Amino acid sequence: MRAANGREVVLVGAGHAHLQVLEAWAEASPPELSLTVVVDQPVSVYSGMVPGAVAGDHPLEEALIPVAPLVAAAGGQLRTSPLAGVDPVGRRLFLADGSTVEYRVASLNLGVVDGGTDTPGVPDHVVSARRADRLMDAARAHEDGPIAVVGGGAAGVELAAALAGRGRGPVTVVEAGDRLLPGRGDSVAEAVRDALEARGVEVRLGAAVAEVRAGVVDLSDGRELEAGLVVWAVGAAPPPLLADTPLPLDEDGYLRVRSTLQVVGHPDLFAAGSCASVEGEKLARAGVHAVRQGPVLAGNLEARLSGGRVDPYRPPSDILTLLNLGDGTALGTKWGVSLSGRWVHALKSRIDRRWVRRFRR
Ligand SMILES: Cc1cc2nc3c(=O)[nH]c(=O)nc-3n(C[C@H](O)[C@H](O)[C@H](O)COP(=O)(O)OP(=O)(O)OC[C@H]3O[C@@H](n4cnc5c(N)ncnc54)[C@H](O)[C@@H]3O)c2cc1C
Repeated sequence: MRAANGREVVLVGAGHAHLQVLEAWAEASPPELSLTVVVDQPVSVYSGMVPGAVAGDHPLEEALIPVAPLVAAAGGQLRTSPLAGVDPVGRRLFLADGSTVEYRVASLNLGVVDGGTDTPGVPDHVVSARRADRLMDAARAHEDGPIAVVGGGAAGVELAAALAGRGRGPVTVVEAGDRLLPGRGDSVAEAVRDALEARGVEVRLGAAVAEVRAGVVDLSDGRELEAGLVVWAVGAAPPPLLADTPLPLDEDGYLRVRSTLQVVGHPDLFAAGSCASVEGEKLARAGVHAVRQGPVLAGNLEARLSGGRVDPYRPPSDILTLLNLGDGTALGTKWGVSLSGRWVHALKSRIDRRWVRRFRR
């Protein structure tokens, strides 16, 4: 269908940034907005609460945000079919169900997919940290025996602590780099390592995974690690569909956007969160940037509709990191200072629950 009134906005993905756009438009939407939201699944998973669900702090349902009621509150239509392609010149989006959605202004907030999936054995023998439902099932089904968490970023660290807290076997974190939490300060990485080891988690640094077999992780130095459950929390990779579009990508395959979150060369197409690389910045692919980009994105989408001025996203110079340690405590770091305890866990829970509540309708 051809654009009817020139105010067609399409949001693809219900990530952290788009949830805030929808929240803002549920309060007061731009005049005569014609809004379509395209998602691949009807719930948005708040990843920050997934480790808490694994640790048994709360049911997984508390980390899930049903998308349809929020879209309805914003006066939009929901389409549940994955985005499969983009024609930015013809302003068309192609969905996996074969349909086409036209736009005047559109935005992509697609997140990332697992990295390292070409490692032999991965498709058959690991559980992805990004598949919350399967992860919960696997954690429940694992009765006893060693567990390996591959990847020493925030997700891997929290999931290792959560699994250790369940007390169903020794947990090892396998990280190819020479430290945990790449991209964060050394003192933070050290504090997290100490916290994990104090909880009985073994940390193996400089250990790349060569292959995963049933019950065994083969490391590239020839050693083997026994593991009845292997959780794959290895970095991130860009959504594969991007490579098949004519859109500008950085050297790692993420969408190149200006500081205003406009895709380079396509001012009416925006991208936010972890699927985008902001020119001139080296931002961690962390939820916090997607969160902070939301209000900027909402304003800029409206500006493109009304001919107003688009504003830049200005990343903070440091970010507050709150890591659940799986035993009722959490570790918080900012400006190189780390604090931990039950009160940090309580603070994290409060922030997380408030976040999810904002988008439930
Ligand atoms: C277990 C775990 C714990 C984490 N903990 C933290 C943490 O404590 N702090 C932190 O900063 N980061 C954390 N992260 C990383 C964080 O989850 C991501 O950086 C963040 O989710 C990225 O947000 P986003 O808005 O870009 O995308 P997401 O929140 O991933 O949202 C992407 C959306 O796009 C949809 N989508 C994807 N593909 C398509 C498609 N083809 N068509 C339509 N829709 C699509 C998805 O369903 C989803 O709605 C964690 C990650 C994991 C896995």
